[in-house]
Amino acid sequence: VVRAEGVHKSFGRTEVLKGIDLTVDAGEVMCLIGPSGSGKSTFLRCINRLETIDAGRLYVRDELIGYEERGGRVHELSDTGIARQRRGIGMVFQRFNLFPHMTALENVMEAPVQVRKESKAEARERARALLARVGLAERADAYPAQLSGGQQQRVAIARALAMRPELMLFDEPTSALDPELVGEVLDVMRGLAQDGMTMIVVTHEMGFAREVGDSLVFMDGGVVVESGHPAEVLGNPRHDRTRTFLGKVH
Ligand code: ATP
Ligand code: MG
Repeated sequence: VVRAEGVHKSFGRTEVLKGIDLTVDAGEVMCLIGPSGSGKSTFLRCINRLETIDAGRLYVRDELIGYEERGGRVHELSDTGIARQRRGIGMVFQRFNLFPHMTALENVMEAPVQVRKESKAEARERARALLARVGLAERADAYPAQLSGGQQQRVAIARALAMRPELMLFDEPTSALDPELVGEVLDVMRGLAQDGMTMIVVTHEMGFAREVGDSLVFMDGGVVVESGHPAEVLGNPRHDRTRTFLGKVH
């Protein structure tokens, strides 16, 4: 579903991504780990076209991100084209970014009604089902401020799912949470994985990576240092840099 080939990205003179190659197949969960500043968030943002890349190619569902083919030629996408591509990709951040003046239900309904032009009745019904799926059926009418961090993050996941994405990107979804709230969010993500969602997850939760991940990628300094089956990478890292990093997070 996702294929990166030689992806480069610089901010000014700082090269943040120095040629990233990786693939995620349909239904797979890839966990992405690495030290602060290694380029993990930037890479996710490039997939979503929140950043443009300087060189290389990024494909999602065999579509080149940011471009389209017309009449045998490759053209840069218009803003509406980019918006269309982005619609198939759900993103969940460290900070939940819910609309504070809307209830959980309204948060989940918002994009389907505004962007997908679903009827309110249809969107409401589906939002209720999604809130139930993340274990929040009873809190549909609560405002974000009335919910715990873990509950807010689960609403954020339901909100992303409401757009019917084929790919979900998670950028440290549990890092801002109190430790006792981490599990409930990871449980929802585990359920999504079991239902066959394709996911890229930037995380420090090695237990999750080991249990749920189909692959684990260790990035450092803008390159993929090592990747493979999570048990392999965690249990038997081949590179010193991986070993040093794992020694710090364990
Ligand atoms: P963390 O674990 O701290 O979240 P990360 O691996 O997600 O780190 P990125 O956020 O991708 O790292 O940042 C990689 C590098 O790119 C950092 O040095 C950061 O300062 C730089 N960077 C990121 N976004 C920008 C930007 N918009 N402008 C300039 N530099 C940026
Ligand atoms: Mg980051």
